Amino acid sequence: MGTLESFNPATGEPLGSVETTDPGDVQAAVDDVAEVQRFWGELSLRDRGRYLRRTADLLAADLDEVATLLSREQGKPITEAYTMEVVPTIDGLHWLAEEGPEILDDQPVRMGQGLFIGKRARFAFEPLGVVGVIAPWNYPWSIPFGEVAIALMAGNGVVLKPAELTPLIGERIRVAFEKAGVPDGLVRVLHGEGDVGAAITESSVRKVFFTGSVETGYKVGAACAARMKGSVLELGGKDPAIVCADADLQNAISGIVWAGFANAGQTCAGIERVYVVEEVAERFISGVVAETERLRVGDPSSWDVEVGPMVSTDQHEIVCELVDDAIADGAERRCGGPLEVSGSSGKYIEPTVLTGVSHEMRIMREEIFGPVLPIVVVASEEEAIELANDSDFGLGASIWTRDRKKGERMARRIESGMVWINDHAYSHAAMQCAWGGVKDSGLGRTHSRFGLRECVEVKNVTWNSARSRDLWWQPYDRTLGEAVRAAAGLLYGGAGSRVKVLREGGGSLLRTGAKTLRR
Ligand code: NDP
Repeated sequence: MGTLESFNPATGEPLGSVETTDPGDVQAAVDDVAEVQRFWGELSLRDRGRYLRRTADLLAADLDEVATLLSREQGKPITEAYTMEVVPTIDGLHWLAEEGPEILDDQPVRMGQGLFIGKRARFAFEPLGVVGVIAPWNYPWSIPFGEVAIALMAGNGVVLKPAELTPLIGERIRVAFEKAGVPDGLVRVLHGEGDVGAAITESSVRKVFFTGSVETGYKVGAACAARMKGSVLELGGKDPAIVCADADLQNAISGIVWAGFANAGQTCAGIERVYVVEEVAERFISGVVAETERLRVGDPSSWDVEVGPMVSTDQHEIVCELVDDAIADGAERRCGGPLEVSGSSGKYIEPTVLTGVSHEMRIMREEIFGPVLPIVVVASEEEAIELANDSDFGLGASIWTRDRKKGERMARRIESGMVWINDHAYSHAAMQCAWGGVKDSGLGRTHSRFGLRECVEVKNVTWNSARSRDLWWQPYDRTLGEAVRAAAGLLYGGAGSRVKVLREGGGSLLRTGAKTLRR
């Protein structure tokens, strides 16, 4: 066992440390959680909901403490720690407690077929057992917290592996549930490097909820498939925003600036490509540049700071390299760039707007993960949709228009898991909405009723009277064959064929029916 130190990216100040788990000890931890999960899985849905509601109440009381830790460990502006992370999870707990019991309750299945008269069926949603949650550093609270909460609502135990850069906030997730009385050991946090994540996928956890890069996501998905277990993969994005000529331009400018630069652009569903139609391009671009230049960059603990430091030097370098590459290829920097903030050792990038970018540039094809907004002027909405879809990613997209019907028509044509009309990405904060992508952006969904269903095994249970007997049981003979053929003709053949069916097979049908009843 070793230790992992956590640092404030804005100041370099050490914040604390956690014990790491040896990858070889991961299976034993999963076994320990499985012991506790057996009891948790027996609780009624309403009781599990009560624990989640209590977690929400205590979290509301601890709001300032959690938001401050989050901002200090990850570097996001303190306001965003509230708006984009902690407050939405409190709301999500209430939604789960309220709606979870109904969504996960047994559901009767209608058995309308004539051949199955008297049978009853239902779906039962059973916990998977222990699930793994492997988390990234960019939303180190809201992403894993939501997944842990959903897994618990469905009756599972959890092993959580936070990102190396944000271990303390990962640990605080466990504390939030345990403070509310969730049994100790039901949520276990395993710290360490990527090999701890890999050991979780190789352990006996029944499913892995992974959020992170495409490259690691493929590895996790393959490791799970090889062990006949599922995975939900929330991977990278390259979200486009399409600005139509009839957009409310001021609203589009403000919304796109927010979704492009929130969390210093380190957002999977941040806007990374803007396609604006030429009629409004000039006004839109000058509005975006003006609004971007007004953003305040600096100490994330300050209430009016809108952009904090990059989470790490590595992240800073990757983003600068992508921007330099685009400029070398002919893009124009309209504002922004690397920035020194006096009194802070953090690595900052002033929000950057690029124009003159082309579709082939790396900046338009690779995930940026920094405060950079490339804008492309297009001739038509049609061209915008084509370019938006010409990407390996498909997480989210937004369309900015006053025409709702047109926006919805365009939304259907976008290849992505989520489309927001006149907004972007906000629905991660609404637990009832599904979250997830298509193409390289991932597989499966978190949040919503679909996220809850990812956390259960669907068991189909049917009931028959103990005294009834099916006509298709042995012994087989010609009469049985003819009877089933006649039944098929009566049930599924056209009205015109019924007389013929009865004439040819009616006798067999009656004899088989009588035999079935006699037995
Ligand atoms: P990584 O893929 O590097 O890491 C994600 C997590 O996986 C970390 O906890 C990491 O541990 C762990 N890990 C590393 N290697 C393995 C392995 N072989 N097996 C299992 N787990 C492993 O991503 P980042 O943390 O850099 O996160 C950024 C990425 O996440 C971006 O691409 C972003 O788009 C994506 N993302 C997607 C979201 C979505 O909802 N679709 C939301 C947020 C982010 P360690 O930290 O120790 O390396």
